[in-house]
Amino acid sequence: MIYREYGKTGEKVSLLGFGGMRFKNVDDHDECVRMMVSAAKGGINYFDTAPGYFETRSETVFGKGFAEMRKLGLPYYAATKTFESTQDGVRREIEAQLKRLDISTIDFYHIWCITNLDNWETRKKNGILQAFRKLKDEGLIRHICISSHLIKNEIKELLMSAVFEGVLFGYSAYNFQTRQEAFDAIREKKLGAVVMNPLGGGVIPQHPELFKFICREGEDTVTSALRILWDHPEITSTLVGFDTMEHLEQALRAMEGYKPRIPAELEEVKSKASASFEGICTGCAYCDNCPAGIPIPEYMDAYNQKLLNKNYKDPVGDRLKWHWNLDRAGAGKCTACGQCESACTQHIDIINRLKEIAG
Ligand code: SF4
Ligand code: SF4
Repeated sequence: MIYREYGKTGEKVSLLGFGGMRFKNVDDHDECVRMMVSAAKGGINYFDTAPGYFETRSETVFGKGFAEMRKLGLPYYAATKTFESTQDGVRREIEAQLKRLDISTIDFYHIWCITNLDNWETRKKNGILQAFRKLKDEGLIRHICISSHLIKNEIKELLMSAVFEGVLFGYSAYNFQTRQEAFDAIREKKLGAVVMNPLGGGVIPQHPELFKFICREGEDTVTSALRILWDHPEITSTLVGFDTMEHLEQALRAMEGYKPRIPAELEEVKSKASASFEGICTGCAYCDNCPAGIPIPEYMDAYNQKLLNKNYKDPVGDRLKWHWNLDRAGAGKCTACGQCESACTQHIDIINRLKEIAG
């Protein structure tokens, strides 16, 4: 296992992390604990969950896993999150979380899921930062972190505000282009950087042919998708939501014999994404200046799910709602001026896709 320092905290975190959002059967505590212990024995020490994963049951099973790891002397960091933003709300939430997690301190506590900068301003006004600082002073949390779905300059602006020790965000070979600005801020502010959805929410294993460009000879797509993230020196840990022991073992095997690319090689691979993704939005955001105020990259990402992702029941609607906090109606504001289509690097018929989304 490779360990990297989480920003300026001095904490040495495993480059492969354990995400608690995809257990195949979260109520099978014995099996979930067995997976967590096997992960820890394989060198994983970063375990991330959230109150919203399986309606708090992921935190409960993590509590059992942590207790077993303590018994066995296996080290771990506990990471979780809160949507609450008021002092009272955060206090109520963390008290329940500490009980479920069966610990007295949360190592990495995240202000959860900032989907737009207005939302961040509202949470700040509610007193979220004061609440987190108080928890830190009291020793209930150790590090103040943020999780966000923002892209491009917005995520950079958020991270440059210099109030966090680390960030959790989605990043993978599927969306290389959307978060390069986040890396600028991570470098400048020396932040810990944990990435989620390293397999593009399932898109990458479902379409090995599209992602051939990331594979070295003899590598399978999942191994390559993880390794190419590990090639980024800014990334501290890569969270995989393990559903079964088999997937855990596959990810641990990807770590064995991993040889990092040099930066020039990494950039060369990343530059091949556009050519491979014909007709698919890459999130480059060259179109993102719509006079009607439509966040086009987000809507086109949702449309991508229809083309690529079998994991959603309603791919476009679910992605808009759960990932971007948007609705279909917003796509109906398009006046068909054509400005975005002239700018689109992937030559996507954005106007028609928006029409289809709006219904
Ligand atoms: S065509 Fe529609 S989505 Fe594109 S820039 Fe014009 S109004 Fe915005
Ligand atoms: S320009 Fe095209 S590929 Fe780039 S974000 Fe916009 S729709 Fe997607």
